[in-house]
Amino acid sequence: MQNFQAILDEIYIDAKNTIEKGSIASYIPELAHVDKTNFGIHLRTLNGSEYGVGNFETLFSIQSISKVLALSKAMSLIGEAVWKRVDVEPSGHPFNQLALLEIENGIPRNPLINSGAIVIADILLSHLKNPKEDFLNYVRDLAGDDSINYNKSVANSEKVTGFKNYAAANLLKSFNNLENTVDDVLDFYFHQCSIEMSCSQLSKAFLFLANKGGCMKNTAHLTESQAKRINAIMLTCGFYDEAGEFAFEVGLPGKSGVGGGIVALLPDHYIISTWSPGLNKKGNSLLGMQALEQFTTKTKLSIF
Ligand code: GLU
Repeated sequence: MQNFQAILDEIYIDAKNTIEKGSIASYIPELAHVDKTNFGIHLRTLNGSEYGVGNFETLFSIQSISKVLALSKAMSLIGEAVWKRVDVEPSGHPFNQLALLEIENGIPRNPLINSGAIVIADILLSHLKNPKEDFLNYVRDLAGDDSINYNKSVANSEKVTGFKNYAAANLLKSFNNLENTVDDVLDFYFHQCSIEMSCSQLSKAFLFLANKGGCMKNTAHLTESQAKRINAIMLTCGFYDEAGEFAFEVGLPGKSGVGGGIVALLPDHYIISTWSPGLNKKGNSLLGMQALEQFTTKTKLSIF
């Protein structure tokens, strides 16, 4: 049995001593206020043991990490029909890239880039009775934690500056790949991205993907095959145009967000969440990537 706490402590100290800490995503003005020195890691094993170091209980903006939860909700609502509206290929491009949409007739490359996530938001808007409330309840349910919430200032801040997302949504609308209005879809999308969680809450919320679709309370939210598919999409598309690098360095399915969070997991074994707001040039948390590379190297617990 490995001493996970000692391993996390060691990784934390090493990462804290790194001089290059990356830069904060200031294109969403509200995110620019976050203290860059925050850094936390949390590990949850499938047998229920938990380990944490640093700011692992501090709330932060989960941003694109929410795309995985929105996708899983959409899959549980309409199943395979999701794939008529969005593809499953890595994009090899930044998260807000628009060019591919035009080439591919309004079918986004995958559900984890912005255009794909906007289509998923549209699906949720069409199928949920009270979309924002129902989605929040879904996330709370997955994590077994009713304190999780939207951060309305972050959602509004993105609404004011989210020009590229408006461009993507308008392009999707022009290709008839949005059923609802651009404003309604983006209002939902900005809210889902604004959800705040801590590393320890994220590890709980993502447990179902390491547990064949069953959440903390063992309720089946997805089938085993759907959980497998989402893990495959995270592995190939979870880190924008750095997905190959993350697979190469870390070797786990995972997802990052511009708030500086990363969640990654080893099916049947564990979920690990990191948060450090300083991002590298591709928009992924610099210390988070470093910590996860160290973790799978030291423990030899990756999918490879
Ligand atoms: N809400 C952000 C955006 O759409 C999410 C980006 C991210 O975390 O990758 O720009």
